[in-house]
Amino acid sequence: MLSPNLTRACLFCGKSVRGRSDKKFCDDYCRASHNNELKGPVYNHIRKVNYALCKNRRILENLLVEEAGKEKEKAHRDTLIEKGFLFKYHTHAQKTKKGHTCFYCYDHGYLPLEKNWYQIIKEKEVD
Ligand SMILES: [Zn+2]
Repeated sequence: MLSPNLTRACLFCGKSVRGRSDKKFCDDYCRASHNNELKGPVYNHIRKVNYALCKNRRILENLLVEEAGKEKEKAHRDTLIEKGFLFKYHTHAQKTKKGHTCFYCYDHGYLPLEKNWYQIIKEKEVD
């Protein structure tokens, strides 16, 4: 039997915790707050990256729609950056038959061409 006088400090608020010896928090609120504090920065980062990826994809999609009917869907690096495209984020990359690398944001991608121009590509089949 543990001594009834034995108290521990709540890991979140520091108040003394009564009850079972494995209890680390005074209540569910403190437990949830502590857990949120732990994962907060990580989840914020994931949210930020997800948002950037979705935005990249939308920019590529819009460019394709805007350019529809033209012979080739190309965009200049400046145009993409102006629209808020973040080149550091992509979901996957694929080598073309010619050995170039196409970077994808989900089902839309871009293939670097010469002089900061990019070919916008829609992935034909999405697994
Ligand atoms: Zn507490």
